[in-house]
Amino acid sequence: MSRPNKESNSERIRRTGREVIAGKLLDREEALWLFRLESSADIMDLLSVANRVREHFKGNKIHLCSIVNAKAGGCSENCKFCAQSGAWQAASPQYGFVDREPVEEATAEAERNGVTAVGLVAAWKGLKKGPKLDEICDRIREMAADGKARPDASLGLIDSQEVAQQLKDAGLECYGHNLESSRNFFPNHCTTHSYEDRLQTIAYLKNAGIKICSGGIIGMGETREDRCDLALSVRDIGAHVVPINILNPIPGTPYENNEPLPPFEILKTIACFRLVNPRKEIMIAGGRTVNLRDLQSMVFMAGASALMVGNYLTTLNQPVEKDLQMLTDLGLDPDWDRHGFADQTESDRSASLPAREPDLAAAPT
Ligand code: SF4
Repeated sequence: MSRPNKESNSERIRRTGREVIAGKLLDREEALWLFRLESSADIMDLLSVANRVREHFKGNKIHLCSIVNAKAGGCSENCKFCAQSGAWQAASPQYGFVDREPVEEATAEAERNGVTAVGLVAAWKGLKKGPKLDEICDRIREMAADGKARPDASLGLIDSQEVAQQLKDAGLECYGHNLESSRNFFPNHCTTHSYEDRLQTIAYLKNAGIKICSGGIIGMGETREDRCDLALSVRDIGAHVVPINILNPIPGTPYENNEPLPPFEILKTIACFRLVNPRKEIMIAGGRTVNLRDLQSMVFMAGASALMVGNYLTTLNQPVEKDLQMLTDLGLDPDWDRHGFADQTESDRSASLPAREPDLAAAPT
């Protein structure tokens, strides 16, 4: 659809929303225009449109995930945002691989709270074939057998197709492996492995039929262009879940003095990710409590459809009960029947939509 003459920002935002709902994928220029919006009036329009796009593709369902920190601290990598890197002097717990009982406790708690998935998370460079992988696969098999939560994992780089296949055979459904930032910005926050290494891991996982959870972290000093490129890259790799973490500067890490992003910039970024990735689960992960404070509930109005609940790897979150109350207050339902991500396929209801979405067309501009 061409851009009419003298179209206002508000009209352009609403037209873009209609086009996304009708099935259009935004190109880089269109996406970048959204990421560069500045005025609060434009951003409020964008949030309203992102909310409609979320509602169109996701209804009122919100996907909840939690994590078990299976191996903590002392990581060999030098990610500047991470308190678990052995390169920095951040106060972070250190322990070896997790036993069966804590995982059982985590899945039981997940089931009680309507949390869809529990991810085993390890702070190390990555996984090779051997006893550690066998132990992880035992935990995944146990999680798959008890059926209380979808078994997910985030275990760093993997070095072969065989490793991915072993994880898949154990019952792993989804693997978290963030691209973290744009290809351009990546060397600014990590030099011990590359963006290409991460893409290779994602390729092994996809070949094995494992779903991909991949997003990044904002607030590291990256530009809006970098955020836009990240949103496009996670679309290109076919991520099913797109976590957005907001930097929580941890003392002792190189980013300890980073200026926090303004809450409206964070909400705008979430909205842009929704418009670039309309069918994906846009998940708000680490850093929301400290960065958004009283505006946390606005993440759904900005287009988020998933939430990491419980405590994060190195920082505390608000209690799960408070998150569940927030969803109830907003008329949203925790959705815990999303093993197949069926709403992300081409056969979803956008295929039969009219070219012009009535609600957006009728909205004042
Ligand atoms: S982000 Fe992951 S790979 Fe990087 S230092 Fe932290 S635990 Fe290690």
